[in-house]
Amino acid sequence: MKVYLDNSATTRMDDEVLKSMKPYFSDIFGNASSLHSFGREALAKVDESRALLAKLINAKTSEIYITSGGTESDNWALKGAAYAHKKEGMHIISTKIEHPAVMQTLKALEKDGFSITYLDVDKDGLVSVSDLIDAVRDDTILVSVMFANNEIGSIQPIAEIGKFCSEEGILFHTDAVQAMGSIKVDVKAMNIDMLSLSAHKFHGPKGVGLLYIKDGVRIDRLILGGHQERSYRGGTTNVAGIVGMAKALEIAVNEMEQNNAYVKKLRDYFIERVLKEIPDCKLNGGMEHRLVSNANISFDYIEGESILMLLDLEGIAVSSGSACSSGSLEPSYVILALGRKMEEAHSSIRFSFGKDNTMEETEYTIEKLKEVVAKLRSWSPLFKEIKGGTLNV
Ligand code: PLP
Repeated sequence: MKVYLDNSATTRMDDEVLKSMKPYFSDIFGNASSLHSFGREALAKVDESRALLAKLINAKTSEIYITSGGTESDNWALKGAAYAHKKEGMHIISTKIEHPAVMQTLKALEKDGFSITYLDVDKDGLVSVSDLIDAVRDDTILVSVMFANNEIGSIQPIAEIGKFCSEEGILFHTDAVQAMGSIKVDVKAMNIDMLSLSAHKFHGPKGVGLLYIKDGVRIDRLILGGHQERSYRGGTTNVAGIVGMAKALEIAVNEMEQNNAYVKKLRDYFIERVLKEIPDCKLNGGMEHRLVSNANISFDYIEGESILMLLDLEGIAVSSGSACSSGSLEPSYVILALGRKMEEAHSSIRFSFGKDNTMEETEYTIEKLKEVVAKLRSWSPLFKEIKGGTLNV
């Protein structure tokens, strides 16, 4: 059996999305910036898709800027806002659990003289709004807090943070890459100034995303070039990508309630059985404010990578920490930020469910996981030392 439980890394593109994109690779192939009929036809579809994207997050069409994905949107929001507002202050507030797309950009800004406060999270992976309020200084120009975390699925109090920032006149950016599709996003009601999205996380195409920039918010350009995206982001318009992203978001928003209920049922069943039937394992992050798709569990005495590889041999795809940081031997900074020990961070696995998963797959994964954990522990000198060789796993 093949089981894909890595839906936070990327999702399978919906058939409907692929169908909507196809004509824009070959039949309607014009450059959306061209003045002739080929270009105009492509532009008409881009305009229609942009309007749909805007409607789905309660933004205006003029506030949607197409990018190459979440990473570019995050880089642009942070660098663009920081450099445009440098004269007013050089302090930025963010968190210790941001995705590398935000984290690395903040590190680069630090090298450039900006001062960054990285807020702690509690054991459930949540930031405290009062900590954020306390961190504000006279020179604070920007707050960037992710909507939902990619490793543990914790959902931050975005509306509350947005309200505070708008009252204080501080720009507020949120990386909503993981949230979109599972949480209703309303940029106006939540007082969001900038929001990053990526289509491949909600069954759309890879390599396309957007940055919502509220009208009137001033940020510098990141990608210099032609006059695309109202002269704010150069590069030939990715017509098929935009069409696919809009279709995918439309489906995701329309199906959200029913998909969430279905995915939550599988995920909750999985967590309950794993915690009950496999000794010495713990859920990372809390259950209350958590994406319905996410289960992140540490299995004491063994390495997450080994679990991942043995599950892979059984046809099950999971992730040890963020897919973007796999390949590095560093333990996950997100799991460490929860107060977990180094070994616990090393032994964590992320299982991320999606609408295409079934109960049969969930059962199969639980059974295989029990076997894999027992096998690895039987090989583990640490386990033998601590448990005295009792292999009742
Ligand atoms: N932000 C978060 C929270 C993510 O999970 C990811 C991808 O894993 C990104 C940003 C980067 O998005 P993209 O893959 O579109 O560059």
